[in-house]
Amino acid sequence: MPRVPFVCGNWKMHKTVGETVALIDGILAGASTLEGVEVGVTPPFTALHAASKRLIGSRVVLCAQDVYYEAQGAYTGEISAAMLADVGCRYTIVGHSERRARFGETNESAGKKVGAALKAGLRVILCVGETLEQREAGAAIQIVSAQLEAGLAEVTPERAADLVLAYEPVWAIGTGKTATPSQAQEVHAHLRSRLGALLGADVADTIRIQYGGSVKPENARDLFTQPDIDGGLIGGAALVAKDFLAICRAAVP
Ligand code: PEP
Repeated sequence: MPRVPFVCGNWKMHKTVGETVALIDGILAGASTLEGVEVGVTPPFTALHAASKRLIGSRVVLCAQDVYYEAQGAYTGEISAAMLADVGCRYTIVGHSERRARFGETNESAGKKVGAALKAGLRVILCVGETLEQREAGAAIQIVSAQLEAGLAEVTPERAADLVLAYEPVWAIGTGKTATPSQAQEVHAHLRSRLGALLGADVADTIRIQYGGSVKPENARDLFTQPDIDGGLIGGAALVAKDFLAICRAAVP
């Protein structure tokens, strides 16, 4: 069974409620031409409810940018997987490099979040990726392997259908520097082989691996046509409906 490509916009700390609804309307206006691609949007927490209402009956899925691993309690500022599911989220991102670099996310906390999200019925986009220093030191594969293994600590083969990976080299995020299609493919192929070792080759073959890092309408097709790249996680270009739709179109099989 071919994997259905998945293109998801990570809006980060952008868009008020009104701006969210306007961007969603722009995306929905072009979404009917995206047959064969799963499309997701990830507004900030404050706009999830409004986005959820707007997306009712559409083929665009709602995603969150992060989740906490505890189910409930005295965790000021945090949001549980059940709360995200309740507001209409289908997915949550876990382990984004900005969370790792600025907000203390570790391989271990990412693994706990993945486990909690899957248990609550949310699907997960687990992000992995190396910094420029790590790449230049020849450690890219070692770093993403460690992130993957810790991220999957609580994932069983039975739960793997709800897992998506995103390979996002940190040096390519928001910098305008994209990994070349062959650089990205090399890491994606490695991740799939590690997934095979951890969860079984048949399961690994079904897991989508998105590429993220300065994807634009101009470079999306060359990336998405690589054999182990199954769509993308899109930051800056996801904030403009026309650009995001063009990127989604580049993933149409
Ligand atoms: C991201 O942060 O997930 C991302 C891929 O950002 P950008 O597309 O802006 O590089």
